[in-house]
Amino acid sequence: MDAEKTEPATLAKLNTLFAYCRERSAFYRERLPANPLHSLAELTQTPVLTQDELRQRLPPKGAGGLTGPLESSYAFASGGTTGQPKLVYYTAEELDREAAAIAYGLAVGGVRPGMVAANLMNAGHLWASFQLMNQALEKCRCHILPIAAQSGEAEALDFIRALGAEVAVGIPSFMISLAQRAMEQGVNDAPLRIIATGGEHFLDAGKAFVRAHLGVERFISAGYSSNDTGPIAFQCSECTGGIHHLFEETCHVEVVDETSLLPVPPGETGKLIITKLQKWLMPVIRYDIGDRGRYVSGECACGRTQPRIELLGRSDDILNIGGYNVTPDYVAAALEKTPGLSPHFRMIARADGPLVLLCVECEAAVPCREEAARQYGAQLGAQLLETVPALKFLVDIKGIAMPRMTVLQPGALPRNPRTGKIRRVIDERLP
Ligand SMILES: [Zn+2]
Repeated sequence: MDAEKTEPATLAKLNTLFAYCRERSAFYRERLPANPLHSLAELTQTPVLTQDELRQRLPPKGAGGLTGPLESSYAFASGGTTGQPKLVYYTAEELDREAAAIAYGLAVGGVRPGMVAANLMNAGHLWASFQLMNQALEKCRCHILPIAAQSGEAEALDFIRALGAEVAVGIPSFMISLAQRAMEQGVNDAPLRIIATGGEHFLDAGKAFVRAHLGVERFISAGYSSNDTGPIAFQCSECTGGIHHLFEETCHVEVVDETSLLPVPPGETGKLIITKLQKWLMPVIRYDIGDRGRYVSGECACGRTQPRIELLGRSDDILNIGGYNVTPDYVAAALEKTPGLSPHFRMIARADGPLVLLCVECEAAVPCREEAARQYGAQLGAQLLETVPALKFLVDIKGIAMPRMTVLQPGALPRNPRTGKIRRVIDERLP
């Protein structure tokens, strides 16, 4: 990161934003320093904003989190829970800028004018992604097929094949379902070349499954973003795994210690704290997005100078099983080596008497009999212990219960009705 060059520009933007917020919101008047910052280090004097704190300050019930009237603006639902709508707010102008950022990332990933692009994001329900993606694909000058995940994977696959979609954008879970459908139908002629995903982490095992059945040449990230913040980062062709270039013109990202919330040394992993430099209606200042990551040093082989961060999962995406940290990647790796199973799964930590029990629930690739499902489960369990020797050790010494595998029929895992996402990690030991 060229800190000397970026710091004055970022600092000037922060001071402009802070002054704007102080003037228009009592909440920010109290929260932000009274005088301009002299360095980015002084940013730590402003408290970190949690998701709950932000929500409590926003309409329909809260106040203080907005800086002006809701003229020419959108409300989008944020968060995956039911009940009271949790909303975030963008002016039309801000949304257009966010779409341009996504379009930039898609273009870097190889999406070209004239390409036929299937928008498979989730539509409706006050959800932002479908709307935002259509606007981004417009800016890429694509021929757009606004299909939406709600059409279901069968119809989506039909449209993709019939209309020659070369690009598909959506969440990883839906791409896996699409590949499953292609496998069930025995078709392998989908014209897709690029799949762009966002919203959840696309594990390598899931990509391999999709590649095998949809013949995709390239997986790209639709960018690192959230409903609350909008786009934060994009991937170039040299960015592998969770590595992204920051949109440094519009985002400032800090990496802080998960407990003390103080900045970690450069390159070390911590909680990501996001400040959007050009979000005026609903400011996002030192926001705890709930992800872990680190800054990547050195220059990217692509030649772009935007700083790079590596995303390392949700800060709550780890299950501590008998003192050992189990991440979804371990289970995904075991699934990949077990025949008969799809890459869909979730992992649950439960108490089993005094011991901790790791439960993995997954789906058969195709409908199967109960006997076969049990067999697959046994194979997966053995595979998991082989893949993660620490778990086998803990079982052997009776430090944890024998992990329990449950193989369900295709589509049987509970999905969020609005987003289609499977909640990957559940800790039932928590109150
Ligand atoms: Zn790059």
